[in-house]
Amino acid sequence: MNRIRVAIQKSGRLSDKSLALLQSCGLRFARSKDKLYWYGKDFPIDLLLVRDDDIPRLLLDGVCELGIVGENIAEEVMRDSNGGEGLDQLRKLSFGGCRLSLAVPEGALIRSAADLDGRRIATSYPALTKSILSERGINAETVKFTGSVEIAPGLGTADAISDLVSTGTTLRANHLVELEVLFESTAALYAQSGGLSEEKQIMLDRLLARLDGVLLAAESKYVMLHAPRNAVEEITRLLPGAENPSLMNLEGDPEKVALHAVCREAVFWEHLEALKGVGASAILVLPVEKMLG
Ligand code: ATP
Ligand code: ZN
Repeated sequence: MNRIRVAIQKSGRLSDKSLALLQSCGLRFARSKDKLYWYGKDFPIDLLLVRDDDIPRLLLDGVCELGIVGENIAEEVMRDSNGGEGLDQLRKLSFGGCRLSLAVPEGALIRSAADLDGRRIATSYPALTKSILSERGINAETVKFTGSVEIAPGLGTADAISDLVSTGTTLRANHLVELEVLFESTAALYAQSGGLSEEKQIMLDRLLARLDGVLLAAESKYVMLHAPRNAVEEITRLLPGAENPSLMNLEGDPEKVALHAVCREAVFWEHLEALKGVGASAILVLPVEKMLG
């Protein structure tokens, strides 16, 4: 069957953004009654909606060709199998950002990761936690929790936890303090490392080309401004990730030009202030919807 199956999280932090990303690549789906399998309408690319933890296994077993899942989960599976099981990260995505951090109870005598040598750490990511610590020469014991890891120290089952944090609110609510970041994670697109049939590979390449256009456009901005002629070079240098701007004459003002450029990186207020500082005026920053290289 020459269709590609993409596994995404059914309901959770990654669900909406995973679906929106695929839709922005032009994919449309017919939702089936049980809502777990969505058939691709214009392209032979279907969706499987599952728990995020099941996604690596579905890829490794060849049930799905692609999956969108947190790097935290993909890395846990790969490190758990001693590097034996292969998932290829095809693209890192810009959502689902979080960090796997060590945390200890407020007032604990543990001040750094090194103090955890020989101690117990509660975590949903035992392989990832253990391997990162042991790369640093720290041998800790891990206790696997599948949820509510933050209650472990209070129960006396562990000296510390290793858990996903985005804002730190949950840690504070449980009187835990963040000690160190072990691993930074975002959502990513994965495939099994075995490779695809020739026909599926062609479909995948087309999808990836579209995906790259969407990912690049998301960071890119179209900037228009008025610049003194003698400041064009400096202004171009100040525009993040811009090359070869277009220059146009400004009717009635021979000293100035209109400059248009695509910035391939985020444009922050600091950039705009710096541009103004060298004489740019009438600065407009517009979003770019799609981009084809
Ligand atoms: P499922 O029912 O699919 O198993 P879940 O409860 O395991 O859902 P979510 O809480 O929706 O999963 O998190 C999914 C992913 O979102 C995580 O694996 C991680 O990559 C990412 N993420 C981003 N921020 C956080 C956070 N603060 N806490 C937990 N995960 C986060
Ligand atoms: Zn999960």
